[in-house]
Amino acid sequence: MDRPAKLSLDERMTYKRTLDLNQHREPMLAILRTVIDRAGMTSDDINRLVKIHARTLGIMYGRDELIAAYRHFAASGDLPAFDPAVIERLRVKPIRTSSGVTPVTVLTKPFPCPGECIFCPNDVRMPKSYLSDEPGAQRAEQNSFDPYLQTYTRLQAFYNTGHPTDKIEIIVLGGTWSFYPETYQIWFIKRIFDALHDFGVQHDRRPEVEAALKSVSQLHPEHNTANVIIHGADMAQTYNQAVQRVYESEMARSRQIAAKVAETERSPVDEYATWEELEAAHRFNETAPCRCVGLVIETRPDHISEEEVLRVRRLGCTKVQIGFQSLNDDVLRKNKRGHTVAATRRAVKLLRQAGFKIHAHWMPNLYGSSPDLDIDDYTRMFADPDFRPDELKIYPCSLIDSAELMRFYEAGLWQPYTHDELLRVLTECFQRTPEYCRLTRVIRDIPGTDIVVGNKATNFRQIVEDELKHRGIKGSDIRAREVRLRSVTPDQLERDELRYATSAGEEVFLQYITQDRAIAGFLRLSLPDPDLAPLTDELVQAAIIREVHVYGQAVDIGESSAGRAQHAGLGTALIERAAEIAREHGCAKLAVISAIGTRGYYRKRGFEDGKLYQVRTL
Ligand code: SF4
Repeated sequence: MDRPAKLSLDERMTYKRTLDLNQHREPMLAILRTVIDRAGMTSDDINRLVKIHARTLGIMYGRDELIAAYRHFAASGDLPAFDPAVIERLRVKPIRTSSGVTPVTVLTKPFPCPGECIFCPNDVRMPKSYLSDEPGAQRAEQNSFDPYLQTYTRLQAFYNTGHPTDKIEIIVLGGTWSFYPETYQIWFIKRIFDALHDFGVQHDRRPEVEAALKSVSQLHPEHNTANVIIHGADMAQTYNQAVQRVYESEMARSRQIAAKVAETERSPVDEYATWEELEAAHRFNETAPCRCVGLVIETRPDHISEEEVLRVRRLGCTKVQIGFQSLNDDVLRKNKRGHTVAATRRAVKLLRQAGFKIHAHWMPNLYGSSPDLDIDDYTRMFADPDFRPDELKIYPCSLIDSAELMRFYEAGLWQPYTHDELLRVLTECFQRTPEYCRLTRVIRDIPGTDIVVGNKATNFRQIVEDELKHRGIKGSDIRAREVRLRSVTPDQLERDELRYATSAGEEVFLQYITQDRAIAGFLRLSLPDPDLAPLTDELVQAAIIREVHVYGQAVDIGESSAGRAQHAGLGTALIERAAEIAREHGCAKLAVISAIGTRGYYRKRGFEDGKLYQVRTL
């Protein structure tokens, strides 16, 4: 059966057709030899070549098939020795991993959320705030929301499409992470690490997990038949009420697991693991072929406490996505957000003191706001030292039928911004974003069919960038300046230092940039306020490296990719400069909030393992 003509990237990544490579040997080799010989081939050139062969063969090869064939024939000696550059040419979308790591998103299961935010979708089949027809959510549902299945399947899809799988950023999404039971959290993260490990050695245990889920879990697709629809206009029941009722047996199964703790035999789908088991999985990952170089969770400001930041750190987390949504108490109250701006200030301070990267979510067009209020709010986010996030998702409020906002819309109390209003707000926001912040997303990628009224253009970022370009303004945030696939040499780069105050001390943003300020690498250094008590003994008199990021196509650990920024030694140069600055500031130590898979990297640079951080004495 041939591949259907038009599939989305996600469909292509999960589409399965098993070709007998030996049967297709000659045409495959002909295509691949051309790709090998012509280093300058573009993606369009490859498409044309594949189409020419398709005319005579009657079969159109997919990129994943060509990549599999290349690996196969390079290993068998039918083609010259394996060259990662050929995989780069064959890849459909090199941009996905161009920031140096491959992101794997994993969703938690449907579960109550402490929030009652009126703009938040209430899709009972999903963890709070996600919609079942978003591509990532569909993948999670197909995999029973199981962390092992989701991680392994995603890694396999990336591998099949030629993406590197040695450096992985794990992004855990869904509701409020800190509200899930601790045992679930430990188990969830441990199972992700199990999948990284198994994938690295190609030991696929998915059939075993799948069978176990099928026999015990209501979340298995064959049993997950929930069809409760919540209409925000009447809110006859809340998400929390519905999810507890619909998934009653799944919730009971989770509770009963606690009673099984004493048993020696545990099924891989029993949502229980100990800290010791997780830490053993961490240690395993330090030298594994498939390493976790970043771990992200998402939570609410009022669920951050001293205890929580240290607990989340113990899970191996390096970045926290946190919903600011608004910095205006009146707007927060009107949207039933359930916390004040003071909670956001406190959360940011604690996260920063603990060295986390802070990835904020902010929403213009909330009920009770206006374009001018939003622009003020955004301005405050970077003018006030209590906020100043490292990364930001701007999600203009969208009206979803299941959200309580429907009532306000129907009563004429809320309207979506017009195209021009939204464009005005976002162009102002872009211009107010400092160089140290990365605008990771602008507009949430909600399927247009779910949006009742308002903007449906998911390419609004492009629209804003075009508008700014038209006015002769260049974006200054990190994403707008990344060198991406551009080759840069060290002599084209100069070091630049940006200092700004925060609620936890002083922040230094070290960056290597070209003359036109394109960014090839950066480091975030927190110099602590001496009047603030450190959160742990490890951080006494310590400056903290919160992030080191060097751009360039992710290449397998140990391989180099000529000319790309990632291997120009920028990471080491940034760390050495950070050590100098920390010393000048009077710090006795330099700590780093390293990811599990980067511990080896820091050890080589003089850092010693502590309990939650790695520390270098200055
Ligand atoms: S806290 Fe987040 S997930 Fe929970 S209701 Fe509010 S927006 Fe939705």
